[in-house]
Amino acid sequence: MKIAVLAGDGIGPEITEQAERVIAALAQDGLRIETERALVGGAAYDASGDPLPESTLKLCEKSDAILFGAVGGPKYDALPRPKRPEQGLLRLRKHFDLFANLRPATVFPELAHASTLRPEVVAGLDILIVRELTGDIYFGQPRGVRTNEAGEREGFDTMRYAESEIRRIAVIAFEAARKRGKRVCSVDKANVLETTQFWRDIVTDVHQQHRDIELSHMYVDNAAMQLVRNPKQFDVIVTGNMFGDILSDEASMLTGSIGMLPSASLNARNFGMYEPIHGSAPDIAGKGVANPLATILSLAMLLRHSLGQEAAAQRVETAVRKVLAQGLRTADIAEQGKRTVGTREMGDAVIAAL
Ligand code: NAD
Repeated sequence: MKIAVLAGDGIGPEITEQAERVIAALAQDGLRIETERALVGGAAYDASGDPLPESTLKLCEKSDAILFGAVGGPKYDALPRPKRPEQGLLRLRKHFDLFANLRPATVFPELAHASTLRPEVVAGLDILIVRELTGDIYFGQPRGVRTNEAGEREGFDTMRYAESEIRRIAVIAFEAARKRGKRVCSVDKANVLETTQFWRDIVTDVHQQHRDIELSHMYVDNAAMQLVRNPKQFDVIVTGNMFGDILSDEASMLTGSIGMLPSASLNARNFGMYEPIHGSAPDIAGKGVANPLATILSLAMLLRHSLGQEAAAQRVETAVRKVLAQGLRTADIAEQGKRTVGTREMGDAVIAAL
């Protein structure tokens, strides 16, 4: 099994290095797994003038999964759009047709204090948001600004979902739920939008082949409210691109710890790109203080979803839980005045706990 490691910019190299060390530890224990690095984002632009060089794409194509750090930084903000670091990320998503975005929002009991909600509302929270990533109003045509019949300018976009697009994301959600709490809540706005009534009908139909999973439906406005009222009622939430964009950010902030949250973007072959949800954090880059746990938890998702190594995935997640229980904290998740550890020390602790 081969993993392409694209560290990127800012804290990217520091945090992916800790995940690579975890992989090396798993390999020492007999997991047949290797890694190879390639440049992406600003680092790739500096080296070759392209945020996604051909050599990087080639490496990803011959790998089983991609572990991605983060890209971007103030240095690149003035570049023309096609040269910007985030183009590396967007082009990878497009090239591999990564239509399924999996964003867990988990609150480890020890970190419940980091949330802006009361600890009892979020302690033990474990939600998985499955967001469709390549369709919906973000990509629908036609779109633009035009002059209407009354002679007034108007902006317009097209919300559109093909049946096959809904089917494949629904399957991902039901299959993910089977490995968890066996409940899927599909979020739509079927009372107002034709596209999302169609979404509801198709998800209901796909459910016929997944009867062991409980399916419920919820309007997006209610879902936004329920996520802060009683987030623990959810197991898996499946939704379209726009609603998922908003709800997944809302859910991640329930946890209060951006340095803890992993994500996966998968295609139909279970090939995927795995990355922390945070960015390149230029404000702390190079200081050795970034939290590597979101990246290490992304590795656990990679092992589970792309490599089929559930036992190894659980080992990594258990190790992370253990270091938190031992009281180790990087600065972003520490309570005020408590001792903190750096990026590498946190990596050391996870490896020891493995
Ligand atoms: P950010 O996520 O990089 O940082 C937000 C805040 O969270 C900062 O204070 C940062 O220090 C802190 N933080 C983030 N990750 C952390 C970690 N692992 N440990 C400790 N603290 C952490 O978001 P931003 O500042 O808005 O963006 C910075 C750059 O990252 C921009 O160039 C942006 O475009 C890029 N970005 C990239 C991605 C990606 O690669 N997927 C995602 C978001 C932003």
